[in-house]
Amino acid sequence: MAFEFADRVKKLPPYLFKEIDRLKAELIAQGVDVINLGVGDPDLPTPQHIIDRLHEAAQDPANHQYPSYSGMNDFKGAVARWYQRRFGVELDPNSEVITLIGSKEGIAHLPLAFINPGDVALVPSPAYPVYSVAVMFAGGTSHPMPLVQDNGFLPDLEAIPADVARRAKLLFINYPNNPTGATAEADFYEKVVAFAKEYDIIVCHDAAYTEMAFDGYKPMSFLEVPGAKEVGIEFHSLSKTYNMTGWRLGFAVGNAHVLEGLAQIKSNVDSGAFNAIQLAGIAALEGDQSCVHQMQATYQERRDVLIEGLHAVGLRAEPPKATFYVWCPTPNGMSSAQFTSLLLKEAGIVTTPGSGFGAPGEGFVRMALTVSKERIQEAVERIRKVSL
Ligand SMILES: *Cc1c(COP(=O)(O)O)cnc(C)c1O
Repeated sequence: MAFEFADRVKKLPPYLFKEIDRLKAELIAQGVDVINLGVGDPDLPTPQHIIDRLHEAAQDPANHQYPSYSGMNDFKGAVARWYQRRFGVELDPNSEVITLIGSKEGIAHLPLAFINPGDVALVPSPAYPVYSVAVMFAGGTSHPMPLVQDNGFLPDLEAIPADVARRAKLLFINYPNNPTGATAEADFYEKVVAFAKEYDIIVCHDAAYTEMAFDGYKPMSFLEVPGAKEVGIEFHSLSKTYNMTGWRLGFAVGNAHVLEGLAQIKSNVDSGAFNAIQLAGIAALEGDQSCVHQMQATYQERRDVLIEGLHAVGLRAEPPKATFYVWCPTPNGMSSAQFTSLLLKEAGIVTTPGSGFGAPGEGFVRMALTVSKERIQEAVERIRKVSL
């Protein structure tokens, strides 16, 4: 039987890693020792005290039943306290916090609550692919906001045509940024709030990387800016902060009405996050934070080794202040795809072509710091031997 996929499936962009995965498999089959800087998934384990709490909570039959749709009160309380401690942002745990099964889940569902067919969403490019796919699933169209080096990889809101802005329902932003590693400060977020108020747009800030920052830098929350809670929400996750990508635990905070829309979609799709995992999440947020400092020190060290090595061969990558991504310009006018393929074939190094995250990413490759310092050192040695 040839069952036909729905249009929304046919419209999906090709899987970013498909061609790279194929080439990688081919090289591994030939016996090449491949160094994978392609995928943004922490290689470090979840801290032990968090695993212990899950172990204990999983023994309690009270945790085996359906959780509450919008999240356990205790977890939402822990999130509100963490926002207060970390950002000085006040949140009502009942109405301004919702538990997610990873932040990707919430990002993917949000457009279903606010986008009608034909509506517009403003989406950065290059970007995490989920934003524009989720908008497409809801029947909307994405208007790309190019992130270019000359503007510090921040979208230029003034470049958005007024008729597009008037039709826009959602605006996605993400700082510290995947894939560019760029960061944003209060002056940018203030402009975003003013723009959202002028055009009646919901701001969705993806803040997954606020804790993965270096050299003592502390990224801010969008919600720290006056008026932010009137126009938007922030997505957050335990995935990157506590090496918990496999656990699927995140949250969204901010505007109560926007969260109510998201909760309505969710209550008809999923039945919440496993209570034992939310209890482990409380242990993460409220426990000893030295694991976070260790994580930061580890990536900072790897970043420095990679950046020094890239500079030594004339690649002018900026050291990121946050995120575990190095956004490296390609040499000699090479395309992203050409440079990715050169690094793979001649050095056995997997990177991600910047153009795969959106056309303005052309001319860059993304390198993820998700292998040991020794392996990054080895990668640097190999790049040195490639004629660029
Ligand atoms: C890793 C990542 C997330 C986190 O996703 P989870 O579903 O919480 O694991 C969110 N946004 C971006 C841009 C990411 O890179």
